[in-house]
Amino acid sequence: MSHQLSTVITGIGELTTNDPERAEQGGLLGLVHDAAVVVEGTRVAWVGPAAEAPDADVQVDAGGRAVVPGFVDSHSHLVFAGDRSAEFEARMTGQPYTAGGIRTTVARTRAATDEQLTSHVARLVAEMRAQGTTSIEIKSGYGLSVHDEARSLAVARQFTEDTTFLGAHVVPAETTPEDYVDLVTGPMLAAAAPHARWIDVFCEDGAFDVDQARTILAAGSDSGLRGRLHANQLTYGGGVQLACELGLVAVDHCTYLSDADVSALASSGTIATLLPGVEFSTRQPYPDARGLLDAGVRVALASDCNPGSCFTSSMALCIALAVREMRMSPAEALHAATAMGAAALDRDDVGVIAPGKMADLVLLEAPSYVHLAYRPGVPLVAGVWQAGRPVVGPWG
Ligand SMILES: [Zn+2]
Repeated sequence: MSHQLSTVITGIGELTTNDPERAEQGGLLGLVHDAAVVVEGTRVAWVGPAAEAPDADVQVDAGGRAVVPGFVDSHSHLVFAGDRSAEFEARMTGQPYTAGGIRTTVARTRAATDEQLTSHVARLVAEMRAQGTTSIEIKSGYGLSVHDEARSLAVARQFTEDTTFLGAHVVPAETTPEDYVDLVTGPMLAAAAPHARWIDVFCEDGAFDVDQARTILAAGSDSGLRGRLHANQLTYGGGVQLACELGLVAVDHCTYLSDADVSALASSGTIATLLPGVEFSTRQPYPDARGLLDAGVRVALASDCNPGSCFTSSMALCIALAVREMRMSPAEALHAATAMGAAALDRDDVGVIAPGKMADLVLLEAPSYVHLAYRPGVPLVAGVWQAGRPVVGPWG
């Protein structure tokens, strides 16, 4: 075997590992102070106090700054074309949110070439990476035809293995709900499945009801796709209960929850992925993260980056909102944006800095992770290693 170049990153003032084995001394985040990390190839080889760090081929100095795991953004809609800033401006100046906007994006997405869609996703992925996001999930859902859903997923697959078929986003203008569910569970699923790992449904008044969601998720499962769900975003309803009943790994939004929904989440272990950028961008009430955590629910944070309800790619903003508006502690919010994001994608190789895990690390221009919430809106990401490669910052 050829020797892989090793790098030791020393001088880490505060290292967030998320390693449960370090929880006793390091709390939820498994903090190590005055730490070092050795990277070999794509993986972390060693973690511990800098004074005990082994030799490596290359040495870099973090200068006393904080290092955290790369963010895991488990919910995004990056494959689209067109601009909806005028709709946002109208909403912010008093006009209500309507479903018409999604149809605008569908028309523009269908009209775009594969190359245009790919270059647009590449730009957004680079924007995310520059802000510390090293793992992403990307959904389809703006094609809504057999051809356009399949090619949206093929585009997304160039950037991540965690691609999600969301043909059941809305019913397109040209068809009826019954015919469209038949299409989604038939020819569209067959065309999408080779490019997808997950299947998702927007379960909401005006989109798809619980019975339709159940039918679509079952068809996806038969084709080897694992289920996820958009549920309880705008209204109370049965989506969260369906996700828990089916044992889905995650159910996303969870803004309008009954006590029974919270109990179902706590007992099923299904992760509630909260997307506070949406509430921020639509002036909706925030989900009750504090109540969910206190009830024992597992909570993740993600961006929901999309052109309509939330066009931010910043996980740091989501952390700041989670702390300020949803009463998560800074540690809970960072954990939810990293380790829990990984859990929401059923990934055990990312979201944690420990031997054997992917070397996805973010160097902050700050002495502590707390600055992610304490300094909202400030670009604190000074460097990013992705799969062991410096991709942003002084060593990139
Ligand atoms: Zn979404």
